[in-house]
Amino acid sequence: MDPYRGRFAPSPTGPLHFGSLVAAVGSYLEAKSRGGAWLLRMEDLDPPREQPGAAERILRTLEACGMGWDGDVMYQSQRSEAYRTALARLEAQGLVYVCGCSRREIADSGLSPDGAHIYPGTCRTGLAPGKTPRATRIRVGDTVIEFEDAVQGKIRQDLAAEAGDFVLLRADGLYAYQLAVVIDDAEQGITDVVRGADLLDSTPRQIYLQRLLGLRTPRYLHLPATVNAAGEKLSKQTRAAPVDERDPVPALAQVMEFLGQAPPAQLRRAPLAEFWRWALAHWDAQRIPRRRSLPAT
Ligand code: GLU
Repeated sequence: MDPYRGRFAPSPTGPLHFGSLVAAVGSYLEAKSRGGAWLLRMEDLDPPREQPGAAERILRTLEACGMGWDGDVMYQSQRSEAYRTALARLEAQGLVYVCGCSRREIADSGLSPDGAHIYPGTCRTGLAPGKTPRATRIRVGDTVIEFEDAVQGKIRQDLAAEAGDFVLLRADGLYAYQLAVVIDDAEQGITDVVRGADLLDSTPRQIYLQRLLGLRTPRYLHLPATVNAAGEKLSKQTRAAPVDERDPVPALAQVMEFLGQAPPAQLRRAPLAEFWRWALAHWDAQRIPRRRSLPAT
């Protein structure tokens, strides 16, 4: 088997908070406990959602947490050429089409599990007269994708019913996450994806693209997503507190608790090096709660 290559792929929409720290620590410990590499990718492909300085700040916080990455950081903002090439290959297979529907025109269609509207296929056979081209979509046909997630178990998704023909190139000219993540996981030689289960429902779309592009499908491990007491995803909007760079150990120990690793109470006050010694020696993915989300206490 190929040597393990994991990754952490934050979006620089704000500072690292508890939810993103869970994905960072989980992917880091899986990689390091197997003697693997841990790569970093800055998913800065959506400038309107980004916060100036957030990318540098995330890197600084990871360093303050004692998590060093292997090799150079990949920046999605520099990868447009690769995305363009991949899109052209799918185009050549007759698998993509231009859609002229506005957000409002899709607003009545059903919702996918991740809250996006399932595209009803209006422009699949060509743009209606008078419509201007907006997004570029991929046909999903009657594809059903199945895979085994290391924590969440067997996942099965009927793409037409649960995702619909999805966007690869957005109306604003930006490449979609689903395409970029697939191209970049392949470029970085990622064998194992460890990330939050808020992305579990995206994974079948990514596997579909991997198959169409002849790319290898990595193994997947989706960690429980962090939610607040009201059950909402922790994010900037729900004011998740940034990780304290001067004293990251309490948050790191809390991540271990969240991931079912039962750290001793005194670990919260341990020096950073001692925290990592304990974490690497005791990390056991089998103990991760088999849940899609859990409240962060
Ligand atoms: N950039 C995505 C996020 O921060 C993660 C993408 C991934 O891990 O595949 O939610």
